[in-house]
Amino acid sequence: MSSNGTNGNGNGVHGNGNGNGKRSLPQAGADPVANLPSIDGFPASEKVYVERDGLRVPVRRIHLEGGEPPFEVYDTSGPQGVDPHLGLPKLRKPWIDERAAAEPVGNRSQMHYARRGIVTPEMKFVAIRENVTGEFVRDEIARGRAILPANINHPESEPMIIGRNFLVKINANIGNSAVTSTIGEEVDKLRWAVKWGADTVMDLSTGKLIHETREWIVRNSPVPIGTVPIYQCLEKANGDPEKLNIDMFIETLIEQAEQGVDYFTIHAGVRLAYIPYTANRMTGIVSRGGSIMAKWCLSHHKENFLYTEFERICEVMKKYDVAFSLGDGLRPGSTADANDRAQLAELETLGELTDIAWKHDVQTMIEGPGHVGMHKIKENMDLQLKICKEAPFYTLGPLVTDIAPGYDHITSAIGAAMIGWFGTAMLCYVTPKEHLGLPDRDDVKAGVIAYKIAAHAADLAKGHPGAQDRDNALSKARFEFRWQDQFHLSLDPDTAKDFHDETLPAPAAKGAHFCSMCGPKFCSMKITEEVREMARQQTAATADVEAGLAAKAAEFRDGGHKIYAGGDDPH
Ligand code: SF4
Repeated sequence: MSSNGTNGNGNGVHGNGNGNGKRSLPQAGADPVANLPSIDGFPASEKVYVERDGLRVPVRRIHLEGGEPPFEVYDTSGPQGVDPHLGLPKLRKPWIDERAAAEPVGNRSQMHYARRGIVTPEMKFVAIRENVTGEFVRDEIARGRAILPANINHPESEPMIIGRNFLVKINANIGNSAVTSTIGEEVDKLRWAVKWGADTVMDLSTGKLIHETREWIVRNSPVPIGTVPIYQCLEKANGDPEKLNIDMFIETLIEQAEQGVDYFTIHAGVRLAYIPYTANRMTGIVSRGGSIMAKWCLSHHKENFLYTEFERICEVMKKYDVAFSLGDGLRPGSTADANDRAQLAELETLGELTDIAWKHDVQTMIEGPGHVGMHKIKENMDLQLKICKEAPFYTLGPLVTDIAPGYDHITSAIGAAMIGWFGTAMLCYVTPKEHLGLPDRDDVKAGVIAYKIAAHAADLAKGHPGAQDRDNALSKARFEFRWQDQFHLSLDPDTAKDFHDETLPAPAAKGAHFCSMCGPKFCSMKITEEVREMARQQTAATADVEAGLAAKAAEFRDGGHKIYAGGDDPH
């Protein structure tokens, strides 16, 4: 593995190119990104590129002290220093163009290529990121156990993979609402989310300027973008679910696919017959998309058109290589409703739709709940694997209790860690604002960090190769009182350092063998260090005694076994 550095602070190259001329993003009025806050790189870090097979795959290299070798971590932040008006460089454009030249029309999905035995550059890129072979990546995609979301119109994305035999991924939701937020704030949240480690981002905008907001997000995103197209479709129907129809929906899919959205949440499993199952629930239907489709079904008393016209939808998906995220419109919104008849009936339908999508070589993952007590999580995961034939599971949390509004990044990260351990491939974050309001920048960070913890905990529990290495590096730094290294190896170095410095801000404290938690006399790690030193000394002393005795024994033997030196044995 070879790599070469760029700049010195994790901010990567300072380029401006989008690889496709100087086209600026559309703006009707004032510049929407005029006042974007700058985003600093990670301390003691630099973005470097692993170069192999003609590809350059980014990693973040963390420099350590005390003669320790540098440590490299997976990097989702994308090229830095790029003018957001121009968008990111179009990394995948040559690969997409080459395939289009060879085959101008037809199925463009990574699954289609995988099933024909082709290892695409995207698959090779992922193989380097995940430290596996390209053939392994191809095989997992071909059998439907992993997806590589990569719309042909989102060439700015750096390929990544979602599947349970790879690192557990996390998604961050952004997007405006009818009540609040602007394009600039959403672009800022995107850049902020990928800095902290979001592997994909969903734009859930339901407010003003949906199309323009999405354009700015897609052009500036190094990670796949997901959407829930029914939201924009509902706007087109003036907010009236009864006016929705398949033609309007297909038109919206094409509009978003043309922009470059990489995966669509589609609530095709909310069937008319299942809606009565929700009547006696504690919290009814809590999915926005699910409730919209339920209203359509009931008002027309017809089967869900997303279900009946699913093959038409597949035709759009494969043309652009948009992946399905089959929505769980009937997910439980409270622990009382977990794993109930409505949820599991919908899951059966999602399994049926997976087969249809795969028939078209369309990449597919399955969305999961929601609110599920810890004792019901394993059952949920096992059923999904069986019913959906191992298609990747993509779960919101789950929240393991309903009693902590304001802290649902924690209630859900507990469930996320468990379900990730059991086999979920991607965890959709929940922020502290869940159930309470639209997340802001700080909430995005809190949600991403909580989910990085859950995903990594799951990787550790699954025994993912290499997952333990970062824990070991940080633990070693902690035990050796290399405070800076402990901060720099952590998921959130800023907070770790700030907390330490609240009480011991002096530079000398970075060399101290204690912190303010226990103080110098009670620092257990310092005491352990002293215990070990004493043991070392005692061992050395014991060794000295033993060596002295051995020397004397040898002298005795060499001296002819005489007990009294200089004379004969009296007997
Ligand atoms: S003082 Fe306590 S918390 Fe701080 S380093 Fe020592 S053992 Fe750890």
